[in-house]
Amino acid sequence: MKPTFAIVTLGCKTNQFESAAMAEQLTSAGYAQQDFSAGADLVFINTCTVTAKTDAQSRKLIRRAQRNNPRSRVVVTGCYAQVDAESLAKLSGVSLVLGNQEKHRLLEHLAKPDSAPRIAVSDLRSGAAEVAMQVDCDAQRSRAFLQIQNGCDAFCAYCIIPYARGASRSVAPGQVNEQVQRLVAAGYQELVLTGIHIGQYGRDFAEKQNLLKLLQQILPHLGQARLRLGSLEPTELPADLLAYLTENRQICPHFHIPLQAGHNRILKEMNRSYSCEFFGNLLGNIRASQPSAGLGTDVIVGFPGETDEEFEQTFQFVQSLPLSYLHVFPYSPRPGTPAAQLPCQVPAEIVKNRATRIRQLGAEKLREFSLTFVGKHLEIIPEPGLERSHMNSVADNYLTVKMDYDPELLGRRTRVEITGYGSEGLQGKLV
Ligand code: SF4
Repeated sequence: MKPTFAIVTLGCKTNQFESAAMAEQLTSAGYAQQDFSAGADLVFINTCTVTAKTDAQSRKLIRRAQRNNPRSRVVVTGCYAQVDAESLAKLSGVSLVLGNQEKHRLLEHLAKPDSAPRIAVSDLRSGAAEVAMQVDCDAQRSRAFLQIQNGCDAFCAYCIIPYARGASRSVAPGQVNEQVQRLVAAGYQELVLTGIHIGQYGRDFAEKQNLLKLLQQILPHLGQARLRLGSLEPTELPADLLAYLTENRQICPHFHIPLQAGHNRILKEMNRSYSCEFFGNLLGNIRASQPSAGLGTDVIVGFPGETDEEFEQTFQFVQSLPLSYLHVFPYSPRPGTPAAQLPCQVPAEIVKNRATRIRQLGAEKLREFSLTFVGKHLEIIPEPGLERSHMNSVADNYLTVKMDYDPELLGRRTRVEITGYGSEGLQGKLV
């Protein structure tokens, strides 16, 4: 019988991509993949450490892995493992702690014995780290993540990612192109360009490149597939790139642009290099040229020193923006970041209340935006839902659409008519 493995992934699209690449390394070495609950021989927890909550979720998953099968070899990797390997190695049941860089040579690390909880984590900011992992294209999904960049040099005051992912480094354009062609040939209908800070694409090359040039090289090879971009910083959307994203029908009309705070003093404290006015103008311009585009943002509430008035200004500013959805992060100090040293940490109860309030605003924005599509058409790619009777789909503008199960449509770009909106989002039917 083949040895078995399971991977559970927390956090961002980069982690999801790397989990898929690790799964391929293991499958090609003769392992069979199982669900997390099945108690596989080898269990990977690919962790996230952007908030205290994701740290807690990671530890909970380690305990669950041990309960599922006390004999499982539990390997903890990802950003939490990268920044706090010692603490994780002390947890009961952990056999091996692997850094982000070590995911590239997973099989070599697995071949070594775990005499005690073993730590293999290299320092990502002090050497030449590899950029991207490879995925071959045997997955049965319609959407593939494609990593074009890794790491970050921005050092926002609250963020642990530059320490967990290392310096910004880009995948060579030829390698990206090759990967695009393989994924398209394998039948993927949507490719999602991912990275930690994709707006910095190409700045680390001796001969400078940028995201626009990369897109111009990729698009002729897309065939029938559509392309979606991950998060882009507000200062990294120059007019030529914006025009290209707006004009090309193969690129999904979906922009995720992190705001983080709607108050200029807080933005400065966060080491974010734009003002609310700049951000408001940018979103206004995008909305004016693309009325049906998905427009999302991230907001952190309860940053150290954020007063009631400053939060109120953030609330009102977000309310004024033409957003279709909102991701809200209650601030939690990340050890090792400048913000964790700041005085005036906001009490947890106040942070929680602010998060609840602004999440309600996000839900209202999503509802208002969604309702504008009732009676209209959207392009979706149906995927199997949790209930067998339904399919869940992500539309090109990132709205989710539920419709009756139809195996003929699974994984195919399909135009649907939106028939209504309810507690589970939009409902659609085949045009
Ligand atoms: S841009 Fe700022 S928030 Fe984003 S990963 Fe880099 S440091 Fe973190």
